[in-house]
Amino acid sequence: MALPKNDSLAAYGHANGTNGNGHHNGHHHVELHLIREEEALSQEERKAIIEEAVRDILVSIGEDPDRDGLLKTPHRVAKAYFELLEGYTQSAEQIINGAMFDVEYGEREMVVVANIEYTSMCEHHMLPFTGKAHVAYIPRDRVVGLSKIPRLVDMFAKRLQVQERLTNEIANALVEYLDPLGVMVMVEGQHSCAALRGVKKHGVNMVTTAKRGLFSEDREMRDEFYRMIGR
Ligand SMILES: [Zn+2]
Repeated sequence: MALPKNDSLAAYGHANGTNGNGHHNGHHHVELHLIREEEALSQEERKAIIEEAVRDILVSIGEDPDRDGLLKTPHRVAKAYFELLEGYTQSAEQIINGAMFDVEYGEREMVVVANIEYTSMCEHHMLPFTGKAHVAYIPRDRVVGLSKIPRLVDMFAKRLQVQERLTNEIANALVEYLDPLGVMVMVEGQHSCAALRGVKKHGVNMVTTAKRGLFSEDREMRDEFYRMIGR
C-alpha cells in the first residue's frame, strides 16, 4: 500500500506550534522529513524493519526471541503498530473533501458529536492512551457528513501524539475545512504511561480543550456545549 500524497502531514508539524516551542516545531519537521523519505519503502519492508527492531529489544532484555511464546511476537507487534499508527497514511483532506454540504442552519446553532472513542499512542513512551473526544462546531454555511468527524478524530489519534496536540489538531482541521463560526473540542484521556510509572494516576482522566471563534469569545456557547455533552 502506497502512502498518499499528504499535505496534512506538513500541517501536522505546524499545528504543533500552538502548544510547543520553536525547538519542538523544528524537531517535528525533521521527523516528517524522515517519514517522507520512507515513503519509498513498501509496507512489507517497513514491517520487516519493525520486526527486526522488536527482536533486538527481546534479546536486549534477556529474552529468547526463538522460544515458542515469542516466536511470532515481532510480527504481532509490527502489525499492532501499523494499526495504532495508521493515521500517518491518511489526511484530513481525504476524509473531509467531498463530504461537505452547504446548509442553512439556525444562526449560532451548534452541531455536536459526543463520545467519540479513540485509541492513541503517547509520543513520549510509545504507550497507548485512550478516551473519548467531544466535538462541536457552529456552521457558517458548510457542514460535514456526520461519520467524518469520528474518522477525523481517529486519524489524528492514530499517530504518535500528546493529548494537547491531538485536541488542537482536530479543532484546526475543522477550522480549515469548514470555515465555521466556532469550534470546540474536548478530549478525555487515560494514559497508561502515567499509570505504569507509578505516578498513581491510574484511572485519572486528563481533560484538554480547544476553543476557536465564538467558543473562545462567548461563555454561553461553551456552557451550552458542556450541557449538550452532559457535563
Ligand atoms: Zn507517555
